[in-house]
Amino acid sequence: MPVDKKQIIEKESVIVDGVELTADWNRMFEQRVIFDYDTDMMDKITDLAGGESMAWCYQCAQCVPVCPVNNVGDYGPRKIVRDLSLGIDLFNDDNLWKCTTCMNCLRVCPKEVDMIKIMPAVREEAVMEGNVPDELQEVFESTFEYGNPMGESQRKRADWVKDAGVEVPIMKEIKKPVDYLWFVECYPAYHGRGKEASAAFAKILTVLGTDYGILGTEEKCSCDSQRLAGEVGLFEEFAEHNIKTFSKYKFNKILVTDPHALNALRKEYPKHGGDYDVVHYSTFLAPLMDKLNLTKSLDIKVTFHDPCYLGRHNGEYDAPRNVLNAIPGIDLIEMGRCREQSYCCGGGGGGMWLDGFMADHVSERLSENRVKEAVETGADVLAVCCPYEVSRFEDAVKSTGNEGKLLVKDIAELIVEAMG
Ligand code: SF4
Ligand code: SF4
Repeated sequence: MPVDKKQIIEKESVIVDGVELTADWNRMFEQRVIFDYDTDMMDKITDLAGGESMAWCYQCAQCVPVCPVNNVGDYGPRKIVRDLSLGIDLFNDDNLWKCTTCMNCLRVCPKEVDMIKIMPAVREEAVMEGNVPDELQEVFESTFEYGNPMGESQRKRADWVKDAGVEVPIMKEIKKPVDYLWFVECYPAYHGRGKEASAAFAKILTVLGTDYGILGTEEKCSCDSQRLAGEVGLFEEFAEHNIKTFSKYKFNKILVTDPHALNALRKEYPKHGGDYDVVHYSTFLAPLMDKLNLTKSLDIKVTFHDPCYLGRHNGEYDAPRNVLNAIPGIDLIEMGRCREQSYCCGGGGGGMWLDGFMADHVSERLSENRVKEAVETGADVLAVCCPYEVSRFEDAVKSTGNEGKLLVKDIAELIVEAMG
């Protein structure tokens, strides 16, 4: 109803319930300015397939303390939403590349703001515009040209088997169906420490008498981290290549040591026509530990780092712990941030190839933060079951001055040590 201004009588003061109210109250403040937030940037993101949930944030801040990047800088979905409302162009902003897609924010977010979908969607646009940090662009090009992010020769992809110490069956040579097809992936095939862990796992498979084979030079990168870093086209091309290669052979299950490959093959390849039963080696090994006849007691304290893409992304927390607890002489000590609340090594979502970029934005690398936590437990060994982590954590042990205090070992290496 319109207000009839003639009806308004302004008095100098009135007494209400014995309390004097002066009219000064009404004259104390200037007219309040209500401003409209700039919604262009938010609209640009929510228009993308996968970007929709960015607008659901209601700034509750539950994601802030759990974001591993916020732990060493100022970051998280809440901050990004706030920046967007102030008109910051995320498609052209360094904040686009800091998220490791660790999923810890989604775990606690009451509105299900999903950075695992938002980040790849926005990054895909940025990649198409050429707004990519140089070191990541180099990795995209190496992957495209050589089939792996390190730029190693595709012909050398199976060279690691020569030093494995046991015979490793290669599918195109054995020409028979197998129970398990081991999808080795890039770091386990090429990286020095990755190859040592692969050799250890091959030895375990031999002792167990597992019927398995690898693809060797026919295999290419699963490309999950490149997909999350925005190179969706490259991912699709490589997924099609690997699915076509899988179709040449008969097998019951795919075995992986890399949680990133697990994630790609289990959740993404089905969208491209490749539907497989995929098993992480920790899940495979846990029920078989009593068959390994481990005779040597290691007598060490071990702490364990949950890989984001095994734990939060694929729900496996118990298997690696069951493996470690079955090794004689291992005293397993948990870090404060473990299982669902595990900290991130910084390698996911393209972070594996952004260390130089991140150094300009955070007070310390995520891997360094994690190594310090591992050292505080008093453990002799930081056990891992992701091929990104051995190199990341070994570097971090050196850069934090903890050489000689903490060793980083793959769970397969610990098993082999206990074989005596
Ligand atoms: S937890 Fe979710 S809703 Fe709350 S501030 Fe973070 S992103 Fe926004
Ligand atoms: S996914 Fe992880 S790194 Fe990315 S914003 Fe969420 S908590 Fe932070």
